[in-house]
Amino acid sequence: MLTGRRYLLAFTDEQNAYAETVGSICRAVWNTALEQRREYRRRGAFISYVEQARQMADAKRDPDCVWLADAPSHTLRQTLRDLDRACKTRGTWKVRWRSRNRTAASFRFPDPNHIAVRRLNRRWGEVRLPKFGPVRFRWTRPLGGTIRNATVSRAGGRWYISFCVEDGVAEVAPNGKPPVGVDRGVAVAVATSAGDLYDRTFASPGETARLKRLQQRLSRSLRTHGRNRRSKRRDAVRARLGGLHARIRARRADFAAQTAVRLVRNHGTIAVEDLRVKNLTASAKGTVEAPGRNVRQKAGLNRAILGKGWGGFLLALEHTARYYGATVVKVNPAYTSQTCHACKHTARDNRESQAVFRCVACGHRDHADVNAAKNILAAGLAVTGRGDLAVGRSAKRQPPERLAA
Ligand SMILES: [Zn+2]
Repeated sequence: MLTGRRYLLAFTDEQNAYAETVGSICRAVWNTALEQRREYRRRGAFISYVEQARQMADAKRDPDCVWLADAPSHTLRQTLRDLDRACKTRGTWKVRWRSRNRTAASFRFPDPNHIAVRRLNRRWGEVRLPKFGPVRFRWTRPLGGTIRNATVSRAGGRWYISFCVEDGVAEVAPNGKPPVGVDRGVAVAVATSAGDLYDRTFASPGETARLKRLQQRLSRSLRTHGRNRRSKRRDAVRARLGGLHARIRARRADFAAQTAVRLVRNHGTIAVEDLRVKNLTASAKGTVEAPGRNVRQKAGLNRAILGKGWGGFLLALEHTARYYGATVVKVNPAYTSQTCHACKHTARDNRESQAVFRCVACGHRDHADVNAAKNILAAGLAVTGRGDLAVGRSAKRQPPERLAA
């Protein structure tokens, strides 16, 4: 199966500057090619990847565009290919421009024949990349397979390399274990229909206070000195903030990975809400459950969701499930938190508090997130067509494609 391995790069100053250059060239190629695609569309025409790649090869010979040749040619073609794919899946008008400040620099080496990795010692590895030469990286885990491609990207002031690796593990047969519903809680990070609650704090009280202080200092500096003036002190505050955020992010990733393994080890089907974190957090204008209501309260809830890192958890869950023969099923989350699992009565007042569910019709009482997880499980089983939930039924008779439907 294909999997990813990410390592921290240790560029030399020269390599660092060159990576910035390649990043800007790929960004320019992306933006130019996107504009060209839109221009064609405005005329009711279409330009393909093949044609764009041909034009780019021509442009390299143009004296005005010699800078194109500074970047490894494979990364440029890959940028066009990525754009082609983005336009096909999202539509030409919805694909975004890449911006210097808002888009993290990133470029890919698609050809494994141009990527050579060796281990130098216990802590360091080395990868040879076209035009970069040997680049050292922190050897934090084994590669565990053959490399398919490599992506270099910048995050929080650091450069990383992600190898896409074929690990040689064959598709795992369905494990036939009982299904479970999982709710992302407000009171806790993750609750299951079996009544398990998984949670941890990602920032200590001291760190939360420090975060707040640094953010205040940053915004004060922006107010008094203006947004455009560069300031050393402000950069220092930004760097400290970035470091703190990185530490919290790492803990979240850790929690997501560990919880995912626990779930897939003991369950065959895992039902989760099909909620795009982005949709929910982008605006508090209204959801199925509470149209346009409690915008302020929603803002707090959104912070809690992002704080718990649901998106990262889902990725970890789907990735890990493949290795344990488990299937992740996404269900419509509408009303799962307001419906009584015992009698199916649905009412907003069913929530006694954020943590406690109490049905106004039948008096059923449960942990609010566990009650929601039970509803999610029921919906998930309906989706998979196993409403009667034959736990004992042989999983082999249920092909995974049907479970995933
Ligand atoms: Zn009830």
